[in-house]
Amino acid sequence: MTLPPDAVVRRRPHYRRDGAAVYFLISHRPALTLADSEIALYDALAAAVTIAELAALHPAACERIAAWHDAEIIDLLPPSPPPARPLVAIEPHMDDVALSAGGRLLLRRGERPVVLLSVTRESNVSGYWTLQREFFDDAAITKLREAESSLVAELAGGTHRTLGIPDAPLRYRPASEWNAESLMALQDGLAAYLAFPPQTSDVNALAQRLADEVLPLDPAELWIPLGLGGHVDHRMTRDACVVMLAEHWDRFADIPVLFYEDHPYSTYFPAQLDQIVGAFAARGTRLTPMPADITTVFDEKVRLVGVYASQFKSRAMEPKLRERSREIGEGAALIERAHRLDTRPQLPPESELAPDAAAIRAPRAAFEALSRETRSLTIIFGAAVGPWERSMRILLERFPVAHLRALIANDRLWETSEWSDPRVEVIGVAGWLGPLWREARRAGERVIVIQFAPWPFDDRWRQQIFKTALPAQSRILHAGLAALFALRPRIVCRHLGDLL
Ligand SMILES: [Zn+2]
Repeated sequence: MTLPPDAVVRRRPHYRRDGAAVYFLISHRPALTLADSEIALYDALAAAVTIAELAALHPAACERIAAWHDAEIIDLLPPSPPPARPLVAIEPHMDDVALSAGGRLLLRRGERPVVLLSVTRESNVSGYWTLQREFFDDAAITKLREAESSLVAELAGGTHRTLGIPDAPLRYRPASEWNAESLMALQDGLAAYLAFPPQTSDVNALAQRLADEVLPLDPAELWIPLGLGGHVDHRMTRDACVVMLAEHWDRFADIPVLFYEDHPYSTYFPAQLDQIVGAFAARGTRLTPMPADITTVFDEKVRLVGVYASQFKSRAMEPKLRERSREIGEGAALIERAHRLDTRPQLPPESELAPDAAAIRAPRAAFEALSRETRSLTIIFGAAVGPWERSMRILLERFPVAHLRALIANDRLWETSEWSDPRVEVIGVAGWLGPLWREARRAGERVIVIQFAPWPFDDRWRQQIFKTALPAQSRILHAGLAALFALRPRIVCRHLGDLL
């Protein structure tokens, strides 16, 4: 590779040097072993520095820099774009724009400044979660993720900002509770938390925050997520962006506004894209597909995505990125797709945008039909609780005279420990057989059954997030439960969020 003397070099934020050894995050195996003469060169990379300055430090600087660049330890920054109104790209999490629209971003590099705006900031999520290794320091992880995002923004010729909202796991349970030992039990509840639909009050509050941040930037172009998948943050960001656009349409009517297809969610729910576009169209909101041929920058996109090394490795993300862009390009080219907003948007109801909209229609209708005067409502939590206080508050408001009975396995009672109400009775359950027999006898009383999940945590997580079918043993169990509860009007759902 050619290295222009004025090119600026940045070291990625994941490495620490101990003597001659350079380690990636908490790894004990050196990613790099430096010769004594290279240490000063390596340390100089702590700040942004030019090739010319590095060449003065070491005779073989260019060679070393090229090798470290290939090893994805350092990056070369592009020249700054000319001053102009910015392209503003909004993302739920610090990595979504690179994953979903990174190629399009690289194609536009140098044209105008980019503002990468992440809704969430504080986070304890890292790639080590899947390895169940102890790396939960939220301050350190947040700092690292912000450094990654700053670097990605710089590589796109821009700057990074956040709205400072904590990431979903930390909204579900505080940072102090997350560790390698608690991870699986917490993830089980987090799955139900993530799958809960965004609530109007949260959407409106976020829309206001976004307007306060975006309007003063006077964007020349705006990119927002389409909200594919079921993750509450993606759906909430999409909804809030739409509310902001509708309220301030005079400011956006004349600029390109693009909804990007959220990756990797676009690969998991193939029917959801048409469903979302259709739901908008049904309300007079027209979205026009805007494909971008990213073939020439695909490898660079993979490298850009790889900057988020606290979350995943670029080579692990490459196959799905390639598969999805090839699929959209029908084999002829690698395509990233977004959808241009042509008219003032109107937000469809969340239930029509959900990844499993068809599956939740019947239980939602049954729930809607419940009388406001219902006096007793039992909820049997066959699986994790998720957003406990929020769910119960919605039910209390919806049924103002009801006594709510919540049956919860003893080993998940901790999910309810921080909030209580005189109208909510929590009934701990040691084993389900006896309580279910007793419940069956309360003929005529309404009951909501959260599907039982007697299978390993990993599959439960998938069942909530990817809406996979119930395993056979669970289907048999639910058929038995239906027979047992023949005399109780019941609604069965994956989690309470499907109804609320
Ligand atoms: Zn995301």
